[in-house]
Amino acid sequence: MKRTRVAVLGAGIVGAACARELVLAGLQVTVVDRGGAAQATTAHGEGNVLVSDKAPGPELELAQLSRRLWPQVLADIAERSAHAVRAVEWEPKGGIVVATTDAGAVELSRFADAQRAAGVRAEVLDADALAAAEPLVTRDHTGALHYPDDAQVQPAAAAAALLTDALQGGAELRTGCEVLGGVMRAGRLTGVRTPAGLIEADMFVNAAGPWAGELAARLGAPVDVRPRRGDVLVTTPLPPTVFHKVYDADYVGAVGSSAEELQTSAVVESTRGGSVLVGSSRRRVGFDDSLRPEVLSGIAAKALRLFPGLAGVPVMRAYGGFRPYVPDHLPIIGADPRLTGLWHAGGHEGAGIGLSVGTARLLRNLLLDLPTEIDVTAFRVDRPAVLGATAHPAREETA
Ligand SMILES: Cc1cc2nc3c(=O)[nH]c(=O)nc-3n(C[C@H](O)[C@H](O)[C@H](O)COP(=O)(O)OP(=O)(O)OC[C@H]3O[C@@H](n4cnc5c(N)ncnc54)[C@H](O)[C@@H]3O)c2cc1C
Repeated sequence: MKRTRVAVLGAGIVGAACARELVLAGLQVTVVDRGGAAQATTAHGEGNVLVSDKAPGPELELAQLSRRLWPQVLADIAERSAHAVRAVEWEPKGGIVVATTDAGAVELSRFADAQRAAGVRAEVLDADALAAAEPLVTRDHTGALHYPDDAQVQPAAAAAALLTDALQGGAELRTGCEVLGGVMRAGRLTGVRTPAGLIEADMFVNAAGPWAGELAARLGAPVDVRPRRGDVLVTTPLPPTVFHKVYDADYVGAVGSSAEELQTSAVVESTRGGSVLVGSSRRRVGFDDSLRPEVLSGIAAKALRLFPGLAGVPVMRAYGGFRPYVPDHLPIIGADPRLTGLWHAGGHEGAGIGLSVGTARLLRNLLLDLPTEIDVTAFRVDRPAVLGATAHPAREETA
């Protein structure tokens, strides 16, 4: 029997996770990327797998699903490729959120109460417990919470492990292959044009990260996904300094904000190699790839408020990337109602690493017309934030 052919457009972590799920479901998968695998946003962020920063609602449900799936997925891949999974550096180290103002402490406590009602574990840390958990964190704090279910991965390695498993299952990877446009027959998308020729399939998954809007427009069905720049500082390797993922309580506000101007908040974590990652910023500056001193110094100042002992620690490098941002801050997962054959998996903004495996599971079930583990209504393509003013019917184009 002829197998259903799916072309996954984009080989970041979301495309890799989707390709793996679809291969394991028995579909014939081709992954297409204009660059290399995991070389774009996935290689330019941090690797936090968080439930702590999400308010009750659909994104938290997706985060909880993903958090359940991560250990299972990695254990499953390890049976075939133990080396790829070791490189992922999965660390279920937990997160600690620290408030440094009275108002911040009240808001943090209110936020955690709502999360607990949605099944999130959030434990109050008094000053002694915080000092024991993070000896170098500021003593000048007003409240702290421990989230045992927060975890961390090395993002590019995680994408590589997912993709490796997909390739071992029979997927094909075509790198250096830019999708330039779509080909339609009888009202459905049947192929994508690339410099290397036409790639035909029964279904196409737009997993182009912050370029998902541009790619969808090339296929004739635009969606509103925009880049939201973020930068990170990397210290030289240090003796053990930061033991959890630690962030300032005002980070949650920055995540949920849609402001265009620069926002910084302290997000600090160590990596297995000893470097400390210090993030992060949020700016809407298109695809402007320049590192800006005022942004980097803003990030550093916030981090020093949380960890005064980091003063004087050498910064080895800085980098940044473009979060795929949708105006309502929710991912897009599902079929495009305007163009049969086109599906979307993207728009995860600053959470696409953590949410990738849950997204892929939902996409697989939707594509195969199976029940989904959580309600996907909020992620539908045909919501105003996604289609907005950009929506127009797909044009007919024949090969
Ligand atoms: C500073 C920063 C910190 C972050 N921290 C975290 C974190 O701690 N935890 C977390 O979960 N998330 C984090 N994120 C967000 C996370 O990195 C992204 O949500 C995620 O990487 C998006 O993955 P993706 O696969 O959708 O996109 P990408 O990784 O960008 O992949 C999209 C791919 O599509 C390809 N493509 C685009 N257009 C075309 C075309 N026309 N034809 C062919 N291929 C095309 C690109 O080459 C690219 O490889 C952070 C992001 C930044 C910038």
